[in-house]
Amino acid sequence: MKKIALFLFSIFIFSSCEQKKAAEAPENTAEKKQKINENNFGIVIHGGAGTILKENMSDSLEIAYKEKLEEAIKTGYTILEKGGTSLEAVEKTINVMENSPLFNAGKGAVFTNDGKNELDASIMDGKTLNAGAVAGVTNVKNPINLAREVMANSEHVMFARKGAEQFAKEQGIELVDPSYFYTDNRMKSLKRAQEREKVELDHDDQTAFYDPYIKDEKFGTVGCAALDKNGNLAAGTSTGGMTNKRWGRVGDAPIIGAGTYANNKTCAVSSTGWGEFFIRGVIAYDISAMMEYGNKTLQEAARTVIQDKLPEMGGNGGIIAIDHKGNVAMEFNTAGMYRASMNSDGELYIGIYNN
Ligand code: ASP
Repeated sequence: MKKIALFLFSIFIFSSCEQKKAAEAPENTAEKKQKINENNFGIVIHGGAGTILKENMSDSLEIAYKEKLEEAIKTGYTILEKGGTSLEAVEKTINVMENSPLFNAGKGAVFTNDGKNELDASIMDGKTLNAGAVAGVTNVKNPINLAREVMANSEHVMFARKGAEQFAKEQGIELVDPSYFYTDNRMKSLKRAQEREKVELDHDDQTAFYDPYIKDEKFGTVGCAALDKNGNLAAGTSTGGMTNKRWGRVGDAPIIGAGTYANNKTCAVSSTGWGEFFIRGVIAYDISAMMEYGNKTLQEAARTVIQDKLPEMGGNGGIIAIDHKGNVAMEFNTAGMYRASMNSDGELYIGIYNN
């Protein structure tokens, strides 16, 4: 008798479980469909933050920046619209800005103290949390491509200097003569920074090392964050670093969590600004963490980190970010930040100044 009762009870439990599964299944499928049908993709970029004032900008230069930002963002947007991955969109968008002398990345990178160009970049995949980064490379045309190669084809996250260049050669990444990166404008910036440094050091101001750059030279790093139609986030950043840098100085751009971060659970972020503070404040990850553990929206997290926490430490700069729903943040505490965004409706926003 007992056995029969147990048997009937098991059948009852089994069938109610099956019913529950059947009831859940359509809902899950509907949810998934909704996600894909929503086509909720988007992209956001920056071309550096700093003392960018309307009164110092000629009309023709302003137009040149806006045109390049538009070309860059539309490159990534088209990839996303056709169903391409956020990683592909981030890389190709950054390539457009790396190839332009307007930005401090690739062609147009700033000079080190001894008149060289040492480039840093990183990229992160929000789906797998995989990441790749390179620091101090001198002959890689598009450092973001090398960062992606490190992510995809090595078991490591970051390569630096000669080793990174060797890896680039082995992987068939495009190399150039270091003179490719030379621009008159950046050389003038270096000379100006060194002049000011001399004057300030003559006045015995030992804190002057980074001041010349911070006060007057624009930052100009480039970055991109994107959400693709499959709900995957990615972010990337590429830079020449800081004018007049020396001793192999590396900033935040190639540091995962500082200059770049992406996590499908929260958001994708790229930073620009005074790198030392972005490293110490783990700025990109902090925004993600506030969303993950503090239940903040992307906008709330970005505002708190860039407007409160970063200046409290003494740092300045900005971020661009996109969350897993396609919401975008472009937050900066400097006079300006070159920036643009596009949403799934194709709406384009381009901004430079603080308004
Ligand atoms: N964050 C970069 C660095 O410190 C500079 C920049 O964003 O312009 O190397």
